[in-house]
Amino acid sequence: MTTIDTSVQHAIEDAAKLLRRSNHAVALSGAGLSAESGIPTYRGTGGIWTRFGEPTIDGWELFASDPKAWWEEAIAHGASEFSVAIERSEPNAGHIAMAQLEEMGRLAHTITQNIDNLHRRAGSRRLTEIHGNRYLVRCMNCGARERLETVSLDRLPPLCCECGGILKNDIVMFGEPIPDDALRESYKQAGASDLFLSVGTSAVVYPAADFPLMAKRRGSPLIEVNPEETALSEFADVIVRAPAGVALPAIVELLAQEL
Ligand SMILES: [Zn+2]
Repeated sequence: MTTIDTSVQHAIEDAAKLLRRSNHAVALSGAGLSAESGIPTYRGTGGIWTRFGEPTIDGWELFASDPKAWWEEAIAHGASEFSVAIERSEPNAGHIAMAQLEEMGRLAHTITQNIDNLHRRAGSRRLTEIHGNRYLVRCMNCGARERLETVSLDRLPPLCCECGGILKNDIVMFGEPIPDDALRESYKQAGASDLFLSVGTSAVVYPAADFPLMAKRRGSPLIEVNPEETALSEFADVIVRAPAGVALPAIVELLAQEL
């Protein structure tokens, strides 16, 4: 078992206390959580973008101007190092603990910036994937989502079976607006929260980074779970300086003791 130092242990107890008192806790998760499952982050040392450069800034424009060419290119290009890492990954103890908190009625909703499907695989059901899900496609016309594997790629671009609109992968590209449904749900949840939990996110990408601050402005306490300091740290009421896979199961254990 991992030894937890005293200051982290105290923060874990404080976080459990806040969760116990809350009625509508909302979490925001980011790349740091999935990094614990072996998925490289975008930014920072060893990050995909740091090593290979940031993806093209006009990704959305390229797709919108010629969806057929985009799909052809995506299929021809095959699996990237990033997607191979995702294929091989498993939900970690942090993902599982978040699903357990939901199950226990302690976590009302999770907003994730991750596209890797690991929250769903861990069992989270009240989930908004604000940057999409790499296993889904989304209709540009009606917004319906389907599993990528069920879509025929014989004719490109693939079309929506509901309305005939053009399908794109669900991952939100640079320059692409966040899908309305995901954005609306995230603002609704942040607006309804009485406690906010930020997990493994550096909180630099908007609009996601705004949700914890929005909750904070409403007077909701903010818990940060992150082994590193972030832009959110100065606003946090409780900071658990530990990996999610260590901190969150310990919080679940404390809350489970009282059931
Ligand atoms: Zn459609």
